[in-house]
Amino acid sequence: MKVGVLALQGAFREHTAAFRSLGCECLDVRTPGDVAIIDALVIPGGESTTIGKLLGDYRLLDPLLERLQAGLPAYGTCAGAILLAREIVDSDQPRLGLMDLKVRRNAYGRQVDSFETSLAIPCLGDEPFPAVFIRAPLIESVGPGVGVLARYKDGVVLARQGHLLVGTFHPELTGDLRLHRYFLDSVAGGRN
Ligand code: GLN
Repeated sequence: MKVGVLALQGAFREHTAAFRSLGCECLDVRTPGDVAIIDALVIPGGESTTIGKLLGDYRLLDPLLERLQAGLPAYGTCAGAILLAREIVDSDQPRLGLMDLKVRRNAYGRQVDSFETSLAIPCLGDEPFPAVFIRAPLIESVGPGVGVLARYKDGVVLARQGHLLVGTFHPELTGDLRLHRYFLDSVAGGRN
């Protein structure tokens, strides 16, 4: 399995390190040629407006949309989740927009715009998951085809729509690889 990590801006190196330590081959994705040869895609955290603009500048938007619509498995973290959402409150920024999600950017306010907490994520087992939120968005609502995998307070923080997985926190910063493994085995591997 060749995992492509979108490497335009943000925390892409950390995802690459996580997937490599699980034995995957990883490729930094920056060109349409890269898009053509990957078996799964990771869209990292960072700044969604910047990544969205660069997707256009690097001519990646259409090739990515084509492959994602044809079933390429993808995992978006934080800004990556924003880029996969159909609706972004009060924003018309460029996006992939393939998941039936409504998200609000920077929803946790200035005081607590970054924090760490333990989340219950039943699909990963009983042990709580250490979740780091960095100026995270809130998934305010999900459509009928979207499964909610974890919540924190009022919001959805991990969700799946078929071959597409999104989370609003950063698992690549903690050393707990269960979510990366879940993506490989259950989302990209086609199991539920
Ligand atoms: N606040 C960023 C945005 O709106 C997301 C932050 C992140 O990816 N950690 O794009």
